[in-house]
Amino acid sequence: MSDQQQYVLAIDEGTTSARAIIFDHSGSVVSIGQREFEQILPRAGWVEHDPIEIMQAVNDVVGQALGRADINRHQVVAVGITNQRETTIVWDRTTGKPVYNAIVWQDGRTTSIVDEISAGDELGTERYRQITGENISNYPSAPKIKWILDNVDGAREKAEAGDLLFGTPDTWVLWNLTGGVNGGVHVTDVTNASRTLLMDIRELTWREDICKDFDIPMSMLPEIKSSSEVYGYGSKNSLLIDTPVAGILGDQQAATFGQACFEPGNVKNTYGTGCFTLMNTGEDAVFSKNGLLTTVCYKIGDKKPVYALEGSIAVAGSLVQWLRDNLRIISSAPEIEDLANTVEDNGGAYFVPAFSGLFAPYWRTDARGALVGLTRFINRGHLARAVIEATAFQTREVVDAMNADSGVPITALKVDGGMTANNTLMQFQADQVGVPVIRPVVAETTALGAAYAAGIAVGFWNGEQDVIDNWAEDKRWEPQGDQDERARLYRNWKKAVTKTFDWVDEDVKD
Ligand code: ADP
Repeated sequence: MSDQQQYVLAIDEGTTSARAIIFDHSGSVVSIGQREFEQILPRAGWVEHDPIEIMQAVNDVVGQALGRADINRHQVVAVGITNQRETTIVWDRTTGKPVYNAIVWQDGRTTSIVDEISAGDELGTERYRQITGENISNYPSAPKIKWILDNVDGAREKAEAGDLLFGTPDTWVLWNLTGGVNGGVHVTDVTNASRTLLMDIRELTWREDICKDFDIPMSMLPEIKSSSEVYGYGSKNSLLIDTPVAGILGDQQAATFGQACFEPGNVKNTYGTGCFTLMNTGEDAVFSKNGLLTTVCYKIGDKKPVYALEGSIAVAGSLVQWLRDNLRIISSAPEIEDLANTVEDNGGAYFVPAFSGLFAPYWRTDARGALVGLTRFINRGHLARAVIEATAFQTREVVDAMNADSGVPITALKVDGGMTANNTLMQFQADQVGVPVIRPVVAETTALGAAYAAGIAVGFWNGEQDVIDNWAEDKRWEPQGDQDERARLYRNWKKAVTKTFDWVDEDVKD
């Protein structure tokens, strides 16, 4: 009988690795394939990936997942794709070859492009935010596309002749899976398009005027579709031959979907390299007055789009890695918890990890990291504690911004990602946000969200209610401790943040 079971496969093309996960109808993980790929760091502040290596990794992990599940491809009824967002790939539609490496979302090379374009606009950055929901910054795709066209020999001519295609990793993976130069489908979904700075967030169409600002020929851009519909089928030479590819969601939106945050006011936070908090705001695109981005959360087929407010935090788990790799105070990430628990509290020390500026809610490129409140008393344990607390304080800042923007305080914070293994962090987080912090049984919420989007499109699941029914709580942390003390710690954190602003390295000339 088992060979009649049906499954959905999700491809998660992340920042450091590609994964393929097969899910059954209950939303449980059946098998996982995973492969890391190289982080190419040609200069300080530049981060690239090799798109060919990304595709090799994707194909590998699909094979691994199918092999480990011991099922045949006919049992996979749909494929979903989720991906690192904003990361920019430009390739030649006739050869299928990228003209340059993928420029990764964290890459900071486009500052001068951003400064030039925002200076030339009389309404400055606000105009872009009102149209696209995003700030003009290094973060979205548009300046990255422009950089490639301006800096790769012959690229602009080819782009203007209609020979080049642009895609975020979802689009690159889809185009290749569905045949590449032999009829590959050139499509993205609304959530990924909403991270490019090129899409009108209300109309869900590319903006000709903004493309012009960035000198981007519109012929390069993929067609924008919903997050849940059949885009194409696995090509003849792929492992997923004839399987419908039917769901695409950017990674953070996928996690929001996988966490069943379908009601306005539902919030999830993913604790990985960075931290990304998203609040569902329903069919209204709410524009933040408090430093959050407006983004498309998902769109199921012909239904109306659902929007989200997003607080993007650049450094969270990567601060733990920094403690491990640069200071060598710990030898593995989980060790930080025991070390932090050798002390009662932070001893007065606060660590603001503004390593390359601060994202939400400050958006300060002039900030640099600071460890403040140091006295002779501070030891390794306090430092570990300050590192853990930094993630919780940063999350509280974006949750406070969400509460202020929406006018309705959140009632719970659903969490996922690697750092949720840290009990001390999760308890401190609950104390700081003042609402229960809840982790689901299936930790793979990002891949799960993409699987649901694909499965809903082909009728494997009926819709959001199935996702809600499958979601189950694993663990919850209730707020504890003295409220005044929690407030005092947060006030100190806010003060510590101000110490990172206006940092100018006196040795660097413009
Ligand atoms: P990503 O998908 O961004 O690569 P993951 O969700 O896999 O991230 O989480 C990995 C991150 O979590 C790493 O940055 C690591 O330092 C951090 N991490 C893992 N385990 C713990 C822990 N027990 N305590 C604190 N941080 C942790």
